[in-house]
Amino acid sequence: MAKILNGIELSKQMRDMVSEMCCQYELKNKGRTVGLAIVQVGDNPSATSYVKNNLRLCKEVGISAYHHKLSVKATAQEITDLIKSLNKDDKISGILLQLPLPEGVDVKEVSSAIDPKKDVDGLNPASAGNLYYGFPAFAPCTPSGVLELLKSTKVELPGKHVVIVGASNIVGKPLALLLMREMATVTVCNIYTKNLAEVCRQADILISAAGKAELITKEHVKPGAIVIDVGINFKDKKLVGDVKFDEVAEVAEWITPVPGGVGPMTVTMLMFNTYAAAIEGKESK
Ligand code: NAD
Repeated sequence: MAKILNGIELSKQMRDMVSEMCCQYELKNKGRTVGLAIVQVGDNPSATSYVKNNLRLCKEVGISAYHHKLSVKATAQEITDLIKSLNKDDKISGILLQLPLPEGVDVKEVSSAIDPKKDVDGLNPASAGNLYYGFPAFAPCTPSGVLELLKSTKVELPGKHVVIVGASNIVGKPLALLLMREMATVTVCNIYTKNLAEVCRQADILISAAGKAELITKEHVKPGAIVIDVGINFKDKKLVGDVKFDEVAEVAEWITPVPGGVGPMTVTMLMFNTYAAAIEGKESK
C-alpha cells in the first residue's frame, strides 16, 4: 500500500515555521507586521469561503490581513486603482486578487496592475513570464504547494519523468515550469491527449489537475510511482479528487488524499509567499 503524502501535516509544519519567521520580522522591524491585502470583487460564495479561510490563517500565523471587498458592479478601472494604491502601501507585503472576478472584468487587465514583488499568487502575466525565463518570481500557490509535497518525499527530481494531466494557466502550466526548473522531464496532457493511460503509465511522478472525478485509475499508474491529486470534484455530494484513491493506493509508492493533500498546501504557500515578499520588499528599499 502507498504511503500517504499528508498535506495537513506538512502545512502545519510550514505554517509553524512561517509564524515563527513573522514573529522575528515584527521584532526586527519595531512592531511592523507582515501584511496581506485580499481584494474580493462581488459575493461569489466559493470566493467568500476562500477569503474567510485565508483571513483565519493569516491571524493564526501572525500576518495582518486587509480585506478589501468591492461591489459586484466595480469596474476594471476601480479595481486597478485599488491595486495601485496597495502597491504603494508600505503596510502591504503581498496582494491576493481573489478569483473568480465578476463577468465582464478582464482578469489579465486587472492582475497586470499587481506589482510583481507583491504578486504572492503569481497572477500577473509578468510573474508567469519571469517564471518561464527562470527569473525570480512568485509562482501560483497550488503548483508551489505540489512542489513542496514532492520535496517532502525526498525524491530526486532531476531526470524523473513527470506527467501532468491538465494544462491550465493556474495549475498545469506553472507546475510544468517549476518542475522543468528542477530538471525533471515533463509531459503535459490535455483533454485531447491520446492514450492517456499509456502516457500516464510512463510517469515516475503522476500529477492530475484535470477536474474530472476518478479519471485516474490503477491502469494509469506505474507501480512505485508518486501520485499527486490536485482535483477537487463532487461526486454524489462527496468531495473527491481526480484519482480513484483506493485502487491507485495499491500500486503507487506515495499518494495524496483528497481532502487533506494539495488543498491545505495552497493556502500555506500563500502565507509563505507573503512572508517572502515582506523580506524581499525590505531588502529592496
Ligand atoms: P481547468 O478546467 O482550467 O483545466 C483543466 C485542464 O485539464 C485542461 O487543460 C484540460 O484540457 C485538462 N483535462 C480535462 N479533462 C481531461 C482529460 N479527460 N484528460 C486529459 N486532460 C484533461 O482547471 P484548473 O483550474 O486547472 O483546475 C483543475 C482541478 O484542480 C479542478 O478540480 C480544480 O478544482 C482543482 N484545483 C485545486 C486546487 C487546490 O488548492 N487543491 C487549486 C486549483 C485548482
